Amino acid sequence: MIKITFPDGAVKEYEKGITGLEVANSISSRLAKEVVAVGINGETWDATRPINTDADIKLYKFEDAEGKDAFWHSSAHIMAEALEFFYPGIKLGIGPTIENGFYYDVDLPEGKTISENDFKKIEDKILEIARGKHEFTRTEVSKEEALKTFTEKGDEYKLELISDLEDGTITFYKQNNFTDLCRGPHLPNTGFIKAIKLLNIAGAYWRGDEKNKQLTRVYGISFPKQKMLTEYLEMLVEAQKRDHRKLGKELELFTFSERVGKGLPLWLPKGAMLRERLENFLKEVQKRYGYLPVISPHIGQKELYVTSGHYAKYGADSFQPIHTPQEDEEFLLKPMNCPHHCEIYKSSPKSYKDLPVRYAEFGTVYRYEQSGELHGLTRVRGFTQDDAHIFCTPDQLKEEFNKVIDIVLYIFKTLDFKDFITQISLRDKDDRSKYIGSDENWEKAEQAIIEATQEKGLETVVEYGEAAFYGPKLDFMVKDALGRKWQLGTIQVDYNLPERFELEYKGSDNQLHRPVMIHRAPFGSMERFVAVLIEHTAGKFPLWLTPEQAVILPVSEKYNDYAKKVLNLLNNYDIRSTVDDRNEKIGRKIRDNELKRIPFMLIVGEKEEAENSVSVRKQGDGDKGTYKIEDFASLINEEIKDLLSL
Ligand SMILES: [Zn+2]
Ligand SMILES: [Zn+2]
Repeated sequence: MIKITFPDGAVKEYEKGITGLEVANSISSRLAKEVVAVGINGETWDATRPINTDADIKLYKFEDAEGKDAFWHSSAHIMAEALEFFYPGIKLGIGPTIENGFYYDVDLPEGKTISENDFKKIEDKILEIARGKHEFTRTEVSKEEALKTFTEKGDEYKLELISDLEDGTITFYKQNNFTDLCRGPHLPNTGFIKAIKLLNIAGAYWRGDEKNKQLTRVYGISFPKQKMLTEYLEMLVEAQKRDHRKLGKELELFTFSERVGKGLPLWLPKGAMLRERLENFLKEVQKRYGYLPVISPHIGQKELYVTSGHYAKYGADSFQPIHTPQEDEEFLLKPMNCPHHCEIYKSSPKSYKDLPVRYAEFGTVYRYEQSGELHGLTRVRGFTQDDAHIFCTPDQLKEEFNKVIDIVLYIFKTLDFKDFITQISLRDKDDRSKYIGSDENWEKAEQAIIEATQEKGLETVVEYGEAAFYGPKLDFMVKDALGRKWQLGTIQVDYNLPERFELEYKGSDNQLHRPVMIHRAPFGSMERFVAVLIEHTAGKFPLWLTPEQAVILPVSEKYNDYAKKVLNLLNNYDIRSTVDDRNEKIGRKIRDNELKRIPFMLIVGEKEEAENSVSVRKQGDGDKGTYKIEDFASLINEEIKDLLSL
């Protein structure tokens, strides 16, 4: 008999050789129908693989990340089988899972191509194989055997993969008429897959190396229910409409110029003003929490980053040093603000009475990303962090952490990000030698983060071994309106930089001590945050933030003068508005301005001029009736006023 331990700590005895699926079945047959893979002592296994030793078990459903992985991996195998059916002689590269779905890189037989017109028949074939409920069977094979199989098949890509593997670690998986080299795990059988869609075709060099042959990459996604696929496809359509690159152009927020350089965003006036309002909002919040503003330059001497350790770690893959006419003088574009802030801390001696010190800066940093990795505002080469560094005593850490969480939560609430989870990254349980800083301080910091998140009632996952070598951290992942996850703010404890920069404060014992440093950026970067905000709101920004709050539409040219008078009055009330005095019919003006996502349209004609009023239409809410101009102004200002009531 073997002992199986469940996540809740319950222990049950089973016959040696029992499978995860049988364990699930012993609990309930309904549960067993949903189990797609199992976790055995921290490794993901096929639910049908025999368990021969005592083990901790987790039962994964499609909803779990591990479950999706097995599900989509299995789907890739079936897609490969279907492709082999239609394209005999096809050679297969790799077929991994991705965040949403999977792909397979294939080398089509001479003269053959795949287009979107072929998708339907391939999908139908996949579903036919799925309906056959073929088991995925795992066999361990010797390297020799593996090489023999794929030599016979004539697949040089698999042969290359096998030659890199160590003998004794190689497994094949077979379903129906198809065998693939794979580590697994997979579904118990193909029947779990009820819906599949091929999404896209792209070219991809074998092993990502442009010296190699270009293969065809076929993307797909699959689900255990048809309804889930329908919802996913609807989400994709909506996501395309909300793409921040598309909306950024339509709403005139930002642009890129080949001449300026790839990955270097240019903020247009409307975008710059929006960003400025976000920055002012954050500055105001930070002021209330005792942050002090600092400003540092965009470059620093190479020596600065040698001291901080950034040069050794990232130097080779970064923008290369800038040289001056003076020999041996080298500067680097600032990849991080922290080293500068450490020097600011050092500019005067500190006592425990001065701590905590909180330096905040909207600091622009530059990081080299390969051009293929660049993406709109979310992956850029120059970006501005809403950065701050807190220097405190080890005993102040928890309170400071709590306050940073408060700021992050307040910001998310104000900007209507209701759905988010946090990830706590802690040390590896088994190997503590690779971390800098005393055990005692680490204990204190890890405990502080765990307690702080508990006290705030945050939904949290704890990841052991994910901490940086210099300290534990807390990351915020928000879900946008379409349910997509985005990594935003980070709070990171750091024992390393205070050491490297020899930061000190005089304690109450009159001795010198090292402060602890906290890095924090609630938005992450202004660029990334604005991108997420655009996609989350579909460009319908909150009233306080939106570039134009109202547009005035005269019903005909006769009322253009009155429209301008309204504009001046609204300007006096600090309401951001414009006049659409084009010589167009009013219906056309309304339709055009709907597209610009301006919250209020103010229509003016004879009646309005006579009454000194405006007819108000609210975006998405229709006619709101006639308002005196000053009443409309106070309506808007009232709505915005509550923003900073902490
Ligand atoms: Zn596989
Ligand atoms: Zn930092």
